[in-house]
Amino acid sequence: MSRINSYIHASQAAEQLIKGFGITTLPIDPFAIACKQKIEVLAKPAHNAGVSGMLIRVGNEFAIAYATHIDNEQFQRFSVSHELGHYFLPGHVDAVIGESGIHESRAGGMSSNRYEIEADHFAASFLMPRHLFFPELKRVGHGLVAIESMAAICNTSLHATAIRYTQCTRELVAIVVSVGNQIDHCFMSESLKAIGGIDWIRKREAVPRNTQTFAFNQNYENVHRAIRTEGTSNLQDWFGGHRCIEISEDVIGLGSYGKTLTVLYDIDVPDAEDEEDEESLIESLTPRFQR
Ligand SMILES: [Zn+2]
Repeated sequence: MSRINSYIHASQAAEQLIKGFGITTLPIDPFAIACKQKIEVLAKPAHNAGVSGMLIRVGNEFAIAYATHIDNEQFQRFSVSHELGHYFLPGHVDAVIGESGIHESRAGGMSSNRYEIEADHFAASFLMPRHLFFPELKRVGHGLVAIESMAAICNTSLHATAIRYTQCTRELVAIVVSVGNQIDHCFMSESLKAIGGIDWIRKREAVPRNTQTFAFNQNYENVHRAIRTEGTSNLQDWFGGHRCIEISEDVIGLGSYGKTLTVLYDIDVPDAEDEEDEESLIESLTPRFQR
């Protein structure tokens, strides 16, 4: 199985479990689900600040410990769900629990380990299963407001919810996470990827200068104090390509996470036929000389 397929598989496995448990409302309670599986869940001050959670095996009994050094309920719910991913996904227990009987997970999505990424996909889909997430999403509007509402409904972090939003929406949207002048990562919805004629924003590229985000990130207080702004920018500034289209750009500081979340939406791309007409019109209006 390719890596991408194994992530989709982990995500689907989580959604199947939620369906199997007969859960039909949000938010999902990973603590209650662990309890039903006879998995003890313990709050534990981590000996190592980088550890977000642990899966512990003693014989055929399992326990989950989640770190309390980050005093954030959403973070802890995600950490417990990540460990449940290791418990439920086929092959994980044997792969991640060594001789010691303890697996330690690290937060931040920085791991390139296949099992860690699968468990993160599992956790996101477990807390935000598509069949429950999508119907709510249709009711909560657009842009950052929609993400904030969904985060409240799912009891998940803004960052995790924003990523899930790009996976579940049918609209043309992208979310960008930046630090200072650098783009850390970007997720685009499937429908935005499909329009063509735009370049992918690559990791570690600079934040484009003509944008709300660039101005916002000039003052670190904005990030730290979780300030939010709403404005517009241009599709071309963010993605290059030939489409000069005004889009909405909402920006919010992610507080102690130290990063900025940008939501790009209201991307009205004319359909292919209109675009052809527009191109020929532009051509007819373009003077036939060049300097
Ligand atoms: Zn892990």
